[in-house]
Amino acid sequence: MIQMKNVYKKYPNGIVALNGMNVEIKQGEFVYIVGPSGAGKSTFIKMMYREESPTSGQMLVNGVDLAKIKRKNVPLLRRQIGVVFQDFKLLPRLNVYENVAFALEVIEEKPEAIRKRVLEVLDLVGLKHKARMFPRELSGGEQQRISVARSIVNTPKVVIADEPTGNLDPETSWDIMNLFERINASGTTILMATHNREIVNTMRHRVIAIEGGLIARDEVGGDYGYEG
Ligand code: ADP
Ligand code: ADP
Repeated sequence: MIQMKNVYKKYPNGIVALNGMNVEIKQGEFVYIVGPSGAGKSTFIKMMYREESPTSGQMLVNGVDLAKIKRKNVPLLRRQIGVVFQDFKLLPRLNVYENVAFALEVIEEKPEAIRKRVLEVLDLVGLKHKARMFPRELSGGEQQRISVARSIVNTPKVVIADEPTGNLDPETSWDIMNLFERINASGTTILMATHNREIVNTMRHRVIAIEGGLIARDEVGGDYGYEG
């Protein structure tokens, strides 16, 4: 479902973040993206939801060449992809319910369908009872559970997470990982950049290590592989 062919990314400042990358990720896979800081992990992930575009090379998502899609169709692509960030990125003026409903409201779903789906995903992450609270009233772990709910509310084919446990304590991190496991078990592809050695070494999945803008290792059930 995701294919990169010789993808090269040079930022305007001259830095080459991806140096001819080739990779294929199939529907339903769970993939960890690991590697040192500055290796190109975030750039790799941003390519997937077209936050950045390749300087050259081909990038296919569900058979669509991202380089060729028109600007007006980018929102359509983004709806097929859920994104979870390290710092949650919830909208502070909206309550929990509204933060999750927002993604559905922009695609003009019927109010009753929106309500049903929002309460369903809030229930899935165990926070239906906090629907009326605001992000600032929640712990970091709860905020991340809300952003996971938001990421799946559109039933995307893939969920992309950039260091989703980076701001969480170990116990809360495992809660979030259990959610990703369940989402993956329902057939959703998960792509997760992480520095969390314990998680990668315990919940075994495909590991893609990026170093200097290239894939240094790609191993199903591999380990984290770095010290510290
Ligand atoms: P990682 O996520 O592995 O830390 P990044 O993809 O963020 O790596 O960065 C790869 C390289 O590209 C780094 O040298 C970084 O400084 C550079 N870089 C990242 N984003 C930008 C940007 N928007 N403009 C210029 N350089 C960038
Ligand atoms: P159920 O019918 O599944 O028991 P409820 O209708 O009781 O669910 O709603 C569960 C939670 O979602 C409650 O906290 C409720 O206040 C909240 N909620 C429902 N609809 C909205 C809405 N439109 N805006 C904000 N919160 C809502």
